[in-house]
Formats: sequence, C-alpha cells, structure tokens
Amino acid sequence: MLYINGEWKESNSGKTLEVINPATSERIQDVAFGGSEETKEAIDAATEAFPTWKKKTGKERGQYLEKVAALLREKTEEIAGVMTSEMGKPIPEAIREIGIAIDYVDWYAEEAKRIYGETLTPSHSDKHLMVLREPVGVTAAITPWNFPIAMITRKLAPALAAGCTVILKPASATPLTAIKVFECFHEAELPKGVVNLVIGSASEIAGEMTSNPDVKKITFTGSTEVGKKLIQDSAAQLKKVSMELGGHAPFIVFEDADLDLAVEGIMLTKFKNCGQTCISTNRIYVAEKIAEQFGQKLAERVSTLSIGNGLEEGIDVGPLIDRKALEKVEEHVQDALSHNGKLLCGGKQVAKEGLKGSFYEPTVIAGANENMKILTEETFGPVAPIIPFVTEEEVIGKVNHKQYGLASYCYTKDLSRAMRVMRELDYGIVGINDPTPVVAQAPFGGMKESGIGREGGKYGLEEYLEEKFVSIQI
Ligand code: NAP
Repeated sequence: MLYINGEWKESNSGKTLEVINPATSERIQDVAFGGSEETKEAIDAATEAFPTWKKKTGKERGQYLEKVAALLREKTEEIAGVMTSEMGKPIPEAIREIGIAIDYVDWYAEEAKRIYGETLTPSHSDKHLMVLREPVGVTAAITPWNFPIAMITRKLAPALAAGCTVILKPASATPLTAIKVFECFHEAELPKGVVNLVIGSASEIAGEMTSNPDVKKITFTGSTEVGKKLIQDSAAQLKKVSMELGGHAPFIVFEDADLDLAVEGIMLTKFKNCGQTCISTNRIYVAEKIAEQFGQKLAERVSTLSIGNGLEEGIDVGPLIDRKALEKVEEHVQDALSHNGKLLCGGKQVAKEGLKGSFYEPTVIAGANENMKILTEETFGPVAPIIPFVTEEEVIGKVNHKQYGLASYCYTKDLSRAMRVMRELDYGIVGINDPTPVVAQAPFGGMKESGIGREGGKYGLEEYLEEKFVSIQI
C-alpha cells in the first residue's frame, strides 16, 4: 500500500510489486507499485501540509516523534519478523537495527526543541542582526534495503523535527518494513500530508522528485552511481542534497593490538548483515609478523558462524539480498583466488538441504593484493581479504581509497600510533579499537565519493534547516 495525504491507497494503475524472501526465494506478498503520478500526489500533499507543520512548535513536533518512537518500541518484534522475511538478516540483528532506528527518533524528538537562531554583534550601532533557522521545505527521501528501517528514521526524524514534510521512496526489496513504519506514523496521528510513502518505479519516482519545483531537498542513501545521477538531475533546480553513498572500509591491525578484540571487531564489521553494510570492513591490513597467526585465528572464528534462514533461532549469517548480489560475491572471490589469494575458509555458495536462498559461506582470503577487485570495489558480501604490511608508513600509504571515504578502523594499544593513524585516515568515520562507531548523537557520513552531508546528532538536523539573516535598522 502507498500512504498519501494520510490515507492508504493502491497504485493508480493497479500495478503491484512482488516481495520475495531471500532465504527461501518464495513470494511473501504483493504491494502497490506506484510511479510519477502517485509521487506528484504525494508532493502536492506534502506541499499543502508544510506551512502548518512548519508553524508547529518544536515541542509539538517532538511530541509526535515521541509517539512514533513509543509505537516502534511496542511493535519491535512484529517489525523484526517482517524485516527478516524480506531482507534476510537474523532476527536479533533486525531487533538491534530497530533499536538504532528508535534511537534516532528519540534523539530528534528532543532535538526539535533545540533549534536555535543567533543574534550577531552589529558593526553599526543602529542595527540589530539576527540569524533564524527555518526548515528547508518539502523533502524527498530515497532509502536502500540493507538497513530497511534505520535509514528511514535517520532521515525522516530530523526532517520532521526541523519542520519539513516528507515523501519517502523505500527500496523495492524492502517495502514491507517501510509500510510498518508508516503504520506507526498513522497511529501517532501525524497531520495529513506530513509524511507520504510511495513504493514503485525508482526512475519514475525519482524523476518526479528531482523535477518537481515544490521539492526543495533530496536526501538519499544508496550507491554512489545512483547518488551522482540524483545530484545531476537535481542540479537544474539547485535543490539541496544529502548523499550517504558507498564505502570501502580498511581495518588495520597492528602487531601490538589485542588480537581477540580485533577478530571480534571483524566479526561485527564484516559478517553482520552478511557484509551488506556501507561501513563494512572491505580490506584487512595486518602487520606481517602476525598476519599468518591472525588469519588462522580469524578463519577459526569465522568457521563457527551458522548460516541459514534468519527467522530460525541461532543463525548468525543470513542470505545475500538476491542472486545478483550472490554472483558479485562469487566473482570477487574467484578473481581474488586467480590473483594468488589463499582461501582460509569459505569460498563457495552454500549447498545445504532446505536452503534455497542466496547464501554464501563466510570467507577469509589471505595474501590479498592490489590487483584484486575486492581491494577497490565494494563486495557487499561476507568476504574478508587480509593484506600483510611491514611498517606504519607503508600501511598509511595504502589505506586511503581513491574514490571512497566513509568508515575506517584501526586496532592498536599504542595511543600515539592511534593518533598518528587517525590523522591520516581520509574517512568520515574512524573507529579506534571500536567496531561500532555509530551512535545517534554523532555525525555519520563520508568524504570523497562516499557522500555529501551528515546524518545523526545536531549535524543531521542542520541538513534540513536554512539560515535566514534578518537585519533591522533601529
Ligand atoms: P541503490 O541501487 O543505489 O538503491 C538505493 C535506492 O535507490 C533504492 O530505493 C533504489 O530503488 C533507488 N534507486 C535505484 N535506481 C535509482 C535511480 N536510477 N534513480 C533513483 N533512485 C534509484 O543501492 P542498494 O544496492 O540498494 O544499496 C547498497 C548501496 O548503498 C551500497 O553502495 C552501500 O554502500 C550504500 N549505502 C550507504 C549508506 C550510507 O549511509 N553511506 C548506508 C547504506 C547503504 P529500487 O530498490 O526500487 O531499485
């Protein structure tokens, strides 16, 4: 179902979209599949709702968000089941993601009250100078399937807190989780038109979003390729844009690191969500002296992971999102092996009775080198390549990626070394001995082609605000 102007509706054409469970390859259910017409209806509704929503006090907008957070909390188990069915991550991971999604709603429910302007010291005694912060306006959001709820609330909560009204297009693979979020908006009685959901053709929906002059802001999370296209298409009207795009995170392990901690860090950054995370570890640089020992230790730990349908208990790694993703992982592994990579564990599709989905074995490859695709392209799968290095200077010379600059990780017990390396990392996020450097109050986002703008904390709110300077002659 689509949600436009406070009402659930089918698509105008009657077209539907089949939602598939990647663990079983079976159809879950069909949902309405809209296009440019429905997007225009949603934009019209958001445009009409904007002046009233903008005039509400921050406290009032925050109270709506508090209600949404409470409903998400209440429905966590139900939403987790839906999310796991449509995208595969194990239930405990889905529950954790919903917790993160709620953190953002909680944070911006509070932050809505803290949108401050400024009074500037005038350079002329007969003037009074003020800076007001106002909502950008109608906002169009496009989100991916890998975090089907957190990517929605990380955009919509600050947009709503700032006073913007919104049209969301979720990924076609995960519309059911988005519908659940909108059920919460509906139950929280957000005024008509403040939030709108259009599921359907990406090109038609995005085409209307970028060409309709009523849309003032485009916020996107997804691939760098699509992000660039959205920026180009928005340029004709100079719309504001925020882009959370691809990444290629290095994970550095120095010889003085706590190796157990580093292994567990890789378990989280590489194998959670089956490696389908923008801040996933893509390249593991390990000091040569310990590289062999570390590779063995990691492979042993990785071999304990249980693979299967995330709806079942005790599963650590679910399926990849679809066959195309599976083929890409397979191609990267074969390419690495053909360039002298040494397989320490995994390395093939899972062939188990009863498993019909797109499953790939968690894989560790030693002796990785610059000729491998996996060292530069986003694999988006459960494959961990290890590259040995000798000196700190050498690894610093290698870790920065030409194109991407989203997340990076460094494990060492030497504080001075950690500080030196941190300064050299051209990444928007740096985790020092920390595999989860993501919290609601911190800026999340990338340098270079990993994005424009930040989400989270006060930084995320700024993306939905404009400064208005007022000069009064007194
Ligand atoms: P994607 O193909 O770019 O899709 C993301 C969203 O864009 C989906 O809603 C998709 O709709 C839509 N889309 C596809 N083609 C479009 C077009 N021509 N115009 C407008 N919208 C279009 O990315 P993905 O494969 O779903 O997600 C993986 C990528 O997202 C990775 O590169 C990952 O690193 C990145 N990501 C980044 C962050 C971050 O915060 N930096 C977070 C998560 C993911 P359909 O589903 O209908 O095709």
